[in-house]
Amino acid sequence: MELIDGKKIANEIKDEIANQVRKLLAAGGRAQHLAAILVGEDPASETYVNNKAKACKQVGFESSTYRFPPDVTEEELLETVGFINRDDEIDGLIVQLPLPDHIDSQKVIQSIRPEKDVDGFHPVNVGRMTIGLPSFVSATPYGIIELLRRSSIETKGKNCVVLGRSNIVGKPVSILMARNQEPGNATVTVCHSKTRDLKAITSAADILIVAIGRPEFVTADMVKEGAVVIDVGIHRVPSDKTRSGFRLIGDVKFEQVSKKASHITPVPGGVGPMTIASLLINTLKAFKKEIYN
Ligand code: NAP
Repeated sequence: MELIDGKKIANEIKDEIANQVRKLLAAGGRAQHLAAILVGEDPASETYVNNKAKACKQVGFESSTYRFPPDVTEEELLETVGFINRDDEIDGLIVQLPLPDHIDSQKVIQSIRPEKDVDGFHPVNVGRMTIGLPSFVSATPYGIIELLRRSSIETKGKNCVVLGRSNIVGKPVSILMARNQEPGNATVTVCHSKTRDLKAITSAADILIVAIGRPEFVTADMVKEGAVVIDVGIHRVPSDKTRSGFRLIGDVKFEQVSKKASHITPVPGGVGPMTIASLLINTLKAFKKEIYN
């Protein structure tokens, strides 16, 4: 079994980006700039936004966070998005989800200019990705594809099973795996909560991508010998073996499944670190106007 080391690959990507930024700055250009809108004081959202700001600093990007109290109005948020849309020195904008219930998240996302939508959630980017046009691809599916590419895993003609059909992971990754491009060209089956006889389907997968949101759901008897297993799940569970009192586990029962898989991502240190690295790639692409020119 070979471990797919997402942390190492994400660090390589960050180094590559930092090198490009250094060259661009040396040539007299300005720094890339990622803006984030954060509403409320949800600790998980705070952590995500802080980690993104830290990663920006690491590679030489500028970042700014627009913070709002939980009772912010939709109008105020839309005004802020409009202001960022018009600022030529801000390349990318992310709106940290979830937003409070009184705000229509779709309306806010759709107010972002697709050219700055580095999270790839705007329907224009989702549509362009679906029909194979250049687009911003959301960070987690992008990260999964980069992990496969950089681990030289052949996907062409392979039987790929995606467990989960969420808009942020399962659905986009299934489209990317089926596209006529490498990595891609796989024969893809998408499973969800209404799928019958899941085990029969997952056991036939050469590549199994699991984004189901259930701790250690996938067990060894559901996996084919020699399969490539990508575990997207993240769950915090109590542990008396760590100083923090908790540990992270995935949607896959790693100990069992790693004995059967040819390649597998660990949790933590697999897909997770790739998400921020992908956001940095998208921000650089937005700066260079690589998608929309
Ligand atoms: P989600 O929106 O909750 O979607 C879960 C999907 O799994 C749904 O399509 C659901 O089917 C399906 N499902 C649930 N139970 C099932 C069952 N028993 N049998 C078959 N299908 C089942 O989850 P998500 O947002 O995609 O996230 C999935 C996991 O990835 C979570 O643990 C999340 O924390 C993690 N995640 C990690 C990253 C990262 O950066 N590493 C990023 C995003 C998410 P229905 O559609 O029928 O309900």
